[in-house]
Amino acid sequence: MSQVSLTAAAPAGIGIMSIGVPEGSEIECDVRLESVIEGVLVSGTARVQLTGECSRCLDPISDELEIDLQELYVYEETDARGRPVESAESDAEVDEERHLVGDHLDLEPLLRDAVVLDLPLAPVCRDDCPGLCPHCGFRLEDDPEHHHDVIDPRWAALGALGAMPDQEKEED
Ligand SMILES: [Zn+2]
Ligand SMILES: [Zn+2]
Repeated sequence: MSQVSLTAAAPAGIGIMSIGVPEGSEIECDVRLESVIEGVLVSGTARVQLTGECSRCLDPISDELEIDLQELYVYEETDARGRPVESAESDAEVDEERHLVGDHLDLEPLLRDAVVLDLPLAPVCRDDCPGLCPHCGFRLEDDPEHHHDVIDPRWAALGALGAMPDQEKEED
């Protein structure tokens, strides 16, 4: 068993459309590698940086995320003499198992999957972000009093004729 701590630069493309790990940002991994019969059991955590966009007000978000990693990496199949068997599977086939390649254990696919699973589908800059005004797109945080006097649509035609001078009280 061994404990590994490493820092690596994030590869491109970890994340979803609204939020993800910026390429080149630091990823800190603390994992324990445990030798088991079938291979190596990896468990630990990784800390990643996140950047994205608030789904309500579109402000940029930057955050950190700590994710748990746990996965069994199995040894390559070997024949009776202990030599690796060439895999007959084509690349198109999806292999659910993660394999050790020689002495190498590739954490990237594991990290990628774990991060994406942990990302919020609709990230927000903060839980009570008021978002944007549904009528005009005004950023509600800039003025909590912002509102529109809603006019009964039956009177709107009159308003257009100037019969209702006070119709659009819009506080900006
Ligand atoms: Zn927001
Ligand atoms: Zn508005």
